[in-house]
Amino acid sequence: MQKNSRVSLSPVLKRYKFFFDLMKRTTDAYLFCTDMQTNTVMLSPNLVQDFALPGEVLQDFDQYWMPMIHPEERGPYLASMRALMKNRNVYEHFLEYRVKNRKGEYIWICCRGRIGLDREGNPTIFAGMMTRMAQRNQADEVTGLLNKYQFEHGVKMALAGYRVTEEGGAIILFGLDNFKIVNETHNRLVGDQVLRHVANAVSSILPPMLTLYKLDGDEFAVIYPKAGREQVENLFTSIQRSLSQPQTMDGHTYFCTVSAGTVFYPEGGKDYLVLHKHAEAAMDIAKREGKNRNCIFSKEQYNRWVRSISMRDNLRESVENGCRGFSLFFQPQVAASDHRLIGAEALLRWRSPKGRMVAPMEFIPILEETMLIIPLGRWIVEEALRVCRKWRRVVPKFRVSVNMSYEQVKDASFKEFVNECLERYEIPPEALILELTESKIIADWNFVNREFDHFRRKGIAIAMDDFGTGYSSLATLKNLSCDIVKIDREFVKKILENDFDRRLVKYTVEICHSIGIKTCIEGVEEEEEYELLRRECNADTIQGYLFGRPESIENFEEKFLGGKMED
Ligand code: C2E
Ligand code: MG
Ligand code: MG
Repeated sequence: MQKNSRVSLSPVLKRYKFFFDLMKRTTDAYLFCTDMQTNTVMLSPNLVQDFALPGEVLQDFDQYWMPMIHPEERGPYLASMRALMKNRNVYEHFLEYRVKNRKGEYIWICCRGRIGLDREGNPTIFAGMMTRMAQRNQADEVTGLLNKYQFEHGVKMALAGYRVTEEGGAIILFGLDNFKIVNETHNRLVGDQVLRHVANAVSSILPPMLTLYKLDGDEFAVIYPKAGREQVENLFTSIQRSLSQPQTMDGHTYFCTVSAGTVFYPEGGKDYLVLHKHAEAAMDIAKREGKNRNCIFSKEQYNRWVRSISMRDNLRESVENGCRGFSLFFQPQVAASDHRLIGAEALLRWRSPKGRMVAPMEFIPILEETMLIIPLGRWIVEEALRVCRKWRRVVPKFRVSVNMSYEQVKDASFKEFVNECLERYEIPPEALILELTESKIIADWNFVNREFDHFRRKGIAIAMDDFGTGYSSLATLKNLSCDIVKIDREFVKKILENDFDRRLVKYTVEICHSIGIKTCIEGVEEEEEYELLRRECNADTIQGYLFGRPESIENFEEKFLGGKMED
């Protein structure tokens, strides 16, 4: 003991000294033991050393310690200590906070202490330890922003702030859209460059009192005390604006958009874990609803999201159990000129374990996201070809159309599987049409075309599905090498009353024909629609409720092939 020879150990501390000396030789943690009656504390030498305290025995520790605690955490520290001293039911102090070390840097420590009682139940000592929180003391490696541990702490402080002021606020989480594609098509370094760009762009527009945090992967967060919906929406708009300039990375132009999830506290949760979970869910919903948007957490939406997660588990189980619960329905395709049956589109159906028929729009995106579409896609091809082989006994040139997701195009072994399957069922390649159902941006057209050419060279036709909706448009037609274009029902719906849509269908068919592409019109429901299409638009095939709805194999045979057939 050097400078503090004035303070001597109290009788209580003397009693514990032997044990304390033993303990301090066994750990790197900082130890303390306080006599609560005399307010004298005994400290381990590393604590004295690292924080330049005046001695190993001190009177009124807090007079030295308080000024070293980060201003943001002095309130919670005081509150916790006060509760310990005054409240007879509180025995434990547990707090994570920043303290300035001898070099003048704030470091994170986790402090944990307990009160010991005497025989009469009066508090006598308060002892415990502090550990350095290594992870907390690091900034995010890529962006230099505060990391997820600091975010957690920030949220806890915001909640503590709410308890004092009774004013809530918002937690906004956001992630980059299609960041996976950047990493996949370029490399990690380009990915890191994109993250740094976002960190800088967003930091530059953030109101001065707010902090940007970088969480795992491509996620960022902002804690916005006292904010309401309007402030959050304004902030999101300015984040979008700050990122609106395309970035050139590695010679490629990259448009960076973000999806955000916002949760308000205390309505959306009263502790860190719940708030974080709800914000994550809201962000996931924003992504599923089309990205480049902010979704505000609500209980109802969250419950729906949880259901979709459970659907994910059920789908996985179905696929793992030999695709149990899945079946293919078939919808007839007829020649436009004389409505002769020429083929059918195979449409996937799924009955959930509870027996509910779930709409494809609901479960197919989940199959794609989880990659379950890869194994299931093989089952679909196999089942469709098996049926096609049977039906060719009645309609010799029968063709089956199978929908294919982008994930399957990317799967290198899918090509061989299709070839092998055609051989196994002894079906000529012309009997198969693969439709690309694309709801996402295709990153690399050259790659897709190369894959498609492989099928086309074999004689398997490629159809571009849902032409005129979403991403499937004239630009896609220019980029994608295909044999058939399927014009979406969106246009057919309006051809009777709308001259523009009628012309659009007519000219699309003409353009396609002029470059040797066949056309199929989807969703024809009314006789008048068909008449008009036949008269004015010279499409090749038609698929719609007017000529038949999707049917089970048995019903299809009964309705369109003259009766049930043996395998
Ligand atoms: P799609 O490939 O464009 O299939 C046509 C959809 O339009 C089918 O819906 C069909 O029932 C519906 N449809 C056909 N004619 C009419 C009509 O006259 N009126 C109306 N209102 N609708 C009509 P479905 O079976 O619900 O399938 C929806 C989508 O799910 C499909 O659109 C396709 O994108 C996807 N899908 C279905 N099966 C598979 C599959 O095996 N694999 C993949 N990847 N996607 C599939
Ligand atoms: Mg289709
Ligand atoms: Mg379609």
